[in-house]
Amino acid sequence: MTNLHITGATLLGGEANDVLVLEGQIAAIGGGLDVPQGVESIDADGLALLPGFVDLHTHLREPGREDAETIATGAAAAAFGGFTAVLAMANTNPVTDTAEAAERVLDLGRATGLVDVQPIGAVTKGLAGEELAELALMHRSRANVRVFSDDGRCVHDARVMRRALEYVRAFGGVVSQHSQDPDLAGSSACCHEGELSGRLGLPGWPAVAESSIIARDAQLAQHTGSRVHVAHVTTAEGVEVVRWAKARGIDLTAEVTPHHLLLTQDLVSGYDPTFKVNPPLRPSEDVEALRAALVDGTIDAVATDHAPHARHDKEHAFVDAAFGMLGLETAFAVVHDTMVLSGALDLAGLADRMSTAPARIAGLSDHGRALEVGAPANLVLIDTEANQTVDAEASHSQSRNNPWHGMSFTGAVHTTILRGRVTATLQEHA
Ligand SMILES: [Zn+2]
Repeated sequence: MTNLHITGATLLGGEANDVLVLEGQIAAIGGGLDVPQGVESIDADGLALLPGFVDLHTHLREPGREDAETIATGAAAAAFGGFTAVLAMANTNPVTDTAEAAERVLDLGRATGLVDVQPIGAVTKGLAGEELAELALMHRSRANVRVFSDDGRCVHDARVMRRALEYVRAFGGVVSQHSQDPDLAGSSACCHEGELSGRLGLPGWPAVAESSIIARDAQLAQHTGSRVHVAHVTTAEGVEVVRWAKARGIDLTAEVTPHHLLLTQDLVSGYDPTFKVNPPLRPSEDVEALRAALVDGTIDAVATDHAPHARHDKEHAFVDAAFGMLGLETAFAVVHDTMVLSGALDLAGLADRMSTAPARIAGLSDHGRALEVGAPANLVLIDTEANQTVDAEASHSQSRNNPWHGMSFTGAVHTTILRGRVTATLQEHA
C-alpha cells in the first residue's frame, strides 16, 4: 500500500489539513480532496505531521554481531522511532570499507522495507587509522556512499585525515569524525575526566581531547576546501570550537545525541554500565551548552548513536563493559521533552534538527523534505500529548542496554510512513 489519505493532521505545528499520498508521493494537501476509491485512511486528528526522521549515526551491528542487532531488528527500532532513513556506521565485522560491503548493507536494508539504510563507509581500511579505504569506489557503487567515518575511533593521524578530506571533496562527500584524541587519555578511559572521575577512581577523557580534534579538523577542512562533520559533540569547549569554525565560514557541521542532551555524568556514580558511553556523559554545564547550541544552530542535527550490545558484553564491571546505549526508539521523546516542552524549540525546529538538517548533511534528497505536493511521502505522525514510560523489554531492538528504562516522556511517535507505506504504528491501549 503506497496510497494513503491522512486526515486532520497538523502540518508541522501549523494548520490542520488532509494529505493525499498516491504512489508513494504527496499528491495533494487540503480539505475536500478527491480521494480515489480504495485508498486507506488514517485519522490523524490531534496528531502533527512531520518529515520522517533521519539518523546520521546508527550502529546496526550486522554483519558480525547479529547477537546484538541485525539490520532487520535495527530497522524495526528505527521505524518505531519515527525514522525513515538511518546511516549505518562502518564498524561492523567485516568493516564496511569496500564497495561490496557497502552494497551488502544497502541490500539488507532494502530487504527490510522499513527504513532506508544508507551505509557509511570507513575512512581507513579495517578502521586501523593508517591506509585510506576505497572511498571513491564506495561512492561510485550502488550504495552511493557519501559519508565516511571510523566512528568508535578517531582518525587521529592528521595526514590521513587530510588525505581523506581531499578524496571526499571530489564527489561532495563528508568525513564524520569521532572527535577524541586517544593520546590525551589512557586506553582504559571510560567516563568524563574531572572531580567525579577522581572520586570514583575511574580513568576519564578530558574535554580538551574532544575540542582539540574538532579544532584541528576544522582547520584541515578549511585547508583542503572540504567538508567535515563532528559526530556526537559533548562538551561546551567543543561547541565553542564549532561556533568559531562556522563563523570563519569553514564547511563544518555537528550533531548531538539525545542522551547528551539530557543525561549527566552523575549517573556514572552507581557504576551502572548502562551509562557507559563513548564519548562519555558530561557535567550539567556541558548539557546546557549543547542545548543552547542546538537551538541557535551551532549544532545542526540530533543523531542517536544507537549502540546495541548483547547482555554478555554490557554486564561487566564498569571499566570492562562495552560502550554504548540504545537510542532509536526514544530519540523523538527525549528531544521533544527536553527541547520542545521547555519552549526552546518548536516542532518546526525539531523537524529541522531531526530530519531536514541530517538529510542535507548526508545528501539524502528523498528525506527531510518540506511537506509539499511532489515530495516523497517519507513522513511521521507525532502525538505530542501521549505519555509513555519506557520499557526496555518492549524494545524492537535485539538488545536491552536502554538508559531510558522506567523514565516517562510526553510525546510519542504515532505512525511512520516510508514512501506511502505504514512501517510502524503506536499500539493503542484501551
Ligand atoms: Zn563515536
